[in-house]
Amino acid sequence: MKKYVVSFPRLGNYVYPIYAMLDRIIDKDNVSLLMPKEMTNNTIEIGANVSPDFVCLPFKYNMGNLVEALDSGANFLLQAGGGCRYGYYAEVQEQILKDLGYDFKLVSLLEPEGLDVMKLYKKFKMLNKKLSFSKFAKEILLAIDSIRVLDNVETYIRDNYAFEAKKGTFDIIHKEFLDKIIDIKNFKELYILKRKTFKKLKAVQFIDNVNDKIKVGIVGELYTSMEPYSTFFLEKELASLGVSVKRYTTVTYLLFIKKRKIKKHIKYAKDYINYALGADGTESVAHTLELINKGYDGIIHIKPFGCTPEINAMPILQKIAEEKNIPLIYLTFDSQTSMTGIKTRIEAFYDMLVMKKENERKIEDNVKSNEENYTYKKEEMLYEQVLHRS
Ligand code: SF4
Repeated sequence: MKKYVVSFPRLGNYVYPIYAMLDRIIDKDNVSLLMPKEMTNNTIEIGANVSPDFVCLPFKYNMGNLVEALDSGANFLLQAGGGCRYGYYAEVQEQILKDLGYDFKLVSLLEPEGLDVMKLYKKFKMLNKKLSFSKFAKEILLAIDSIRVLDNVETYIRDNYAFEAKKGTFDIIHKEFLDKIIDIKNFKELYILKRKTFKKLKAVQFIDNVNDKIKVGIVGELYTSMEPYSTFFLEKELASLGVSVKRYTTVTYLLFIKKRKIKKHIKYAKDYINYALGADGTESVAHTLELINKGYDGIIHIKPFGCTPEINAMPILQKIAEEKNIPLIYLTFDSQTSMTGIKTRIEAFYDMLVMKKENERKIEDNVKSNEENYTYKKEEMLYEQVLHRS
């Protein structure tokens, strides 16, 4: 019998490169892998039932994932850890699950201070005693690169999803890509997959009136930004209305860009903030300004219920929206949130954006035609003066 059955919580499509990495690392004679189940209503129901009421939503989703994994035979759970309250999830979750009578091992991959490579190596050695440091380092780098490619592909799709001429084309390419990234064995395979996928993506035909489309930016907390189930597939919902969606928060962003940019973000948003707001709050403010300056038509701010850093950002966003005259909507998600309620609010927000854009276009047309009339009148007067003189 295998000693360990390993599983981990879901976070969007990142489960694929993570599963692929673990599959390359584990000692297959003694360890097996269990792909976390797809999210369903059941996941959040289970998670909410075993979690404290006041805890933030990602904790509940994670708990739902972990209970489902344990019930399916997992006995070795990986948790990512990370900033904000997320950094304390692992210990609390372990205690709750043990109190419920589950027998398992839970390993948090990140330390409270962040990533410690040697400690991480030791943790992965539990899954393969013969794992050399060089093999571990290579697999981690390959996983990071796979995540980067995944983010590139999904960002391209998100930006252009609303414009495809034949509905469903991006979905097919996306699915083919995900089916393959889970089997990646080396860098060469990854780069070939990337090249082929982008060739297909760039060949997708677009509708004619791309520039008339509404553009919306999504800012807010990281889990709700990256786990589509937690927002009832908000981005797809917007795309189905014909909206182009921009979102900055990805794992690549969090790993490589966020820390480097924090000072720049505070400087960029200096009229509104003087210091970091914690978690993703600073980014929510700076990215809102960036999106407005890039000409986006509206902003959607998303957060789990009770998410303090994002609550801090909200009055600032309100001020920005009023000063810059930009429509802004706040969507808060918890285990009780109804999908219908969210859908109705998105549709109403979309209608408002369309009306605003049409009004602005009419005003622009009026100004243009007034300018044309003025020029015509001026020319007429000049012509009459010339005639008069001659
Ligand atoms: S950022 Fe918000 S949702 Fe995420 S751990 Fe912190 S408080 Fe919870």
